[in-house]
Amino acid sequence: MADNDVLIIAHRGASGYLPEHTLEAKVLAYGMGADYLEQDVIATRDDQLVVLHDIYLDRVTNVAEKYPHRKRDDGRYYVRDFDLRELKALRVWERRGDDGISPVFPKRFPTGQGGAFRIPTMREEIKLVQGLNKSTGRSVGIYVEIKRPAWHQAEGVDVSPLLLQLLDDSGYRTRDDLAYVQCFDAREVRRIRHDLGCELKIVQLLGENDWGESDTDYDQLKTPAGLRDVAATADGVGPWIGHLVKTAEIDGRPVSTGFVSAAHDAGLTVHPYTFRADQLAPGFDSLQEMIQWFVDELAIDGLFTDFPDLARMALRS
Ligand code: CA
Repeated sequence: MADNDVLIIAHRGASGYLPEHTLEAKVLAYGMGADYLEQDVIATRDDQLVVLHDIYLDRVTNVAEKYPHRKRDDGRYYVRDFDLRELKALRVWERRGDDGISPVFPKRFPTGQGGAFRIPTMREEIKLVQGLNKSTGRSVGIYVEIKRPAWHQAEGVDVSPLLLQLLDDSGYRTRDDLAYVQCFDAREVRRIRHDLGCELKIVQLLGENDWGESDTDYDQLKTPAGLRDVAATADGVGPWIGHLVKTAEIDGRPVSTGFVSAAHDAGLTVHPYTFRADQLAPGFDSLQEMIQWFVDELAIDGLFTDFPDLARMALRS
């Protein structure tokens, strides 16, 4: 850990600069001084774990061109319908919006360009981080999210045991190891700790009930009693920035909601998401100012960011 011990977690890699979750974005994040690199894991048809944010392929790859007849009735292309070999033939590009054409973040890497980007497996990503740790002498960790566990089970695959076995095989076993496991689904968080025996650091992600991430009641989890329940299982929480800050009615200044102190009182660390230079929270003029406010005023313990270099600079100054 460096600086004031606030962890910089590279959200999908240095995704502000290169297409999310590509190994290129992870290498850049590593070089920019991130403490942890984030992975989201999804299972393929042949039960391999790949690093992708969505259960779908259509917003970040050329799947519609390459396999036009493989969409489901809802018009979406699912990772779960493809073998790893097929997924490796896809080109990955900068995230597009619902029209499948326009970039979500217009100032970022040109979408459609960079034909060499590919979908990585979780195993490949672990090898990359561990190799870089050896060659640089640094100790950068992984920060893995189990995506949509209930959906995966309905699709016939149980992702958590597959992931925990891979982590164990790779030397990630205890709280002292350089790995976090994160999940939105509170039932799955309890299951991995108490039923599957996961001894790694675990973070309960917190969203809004209307996002449809899981059937977890986030309104309840965010209460002091809910946070105490979370602390019985998890080491920390990953709240949305909007849970931590509101704007003052009089002058639009950012004001604390009190969430971070409530989580700290429950004994939980707090790693909010997502700090973006091109999507600031209301009341801030720059990412640097925003990060410094969250660190100085709220005492967050870490942050997810698409811009690990800017976060490192903000923490140093
Ligand atoms: Ca994630």
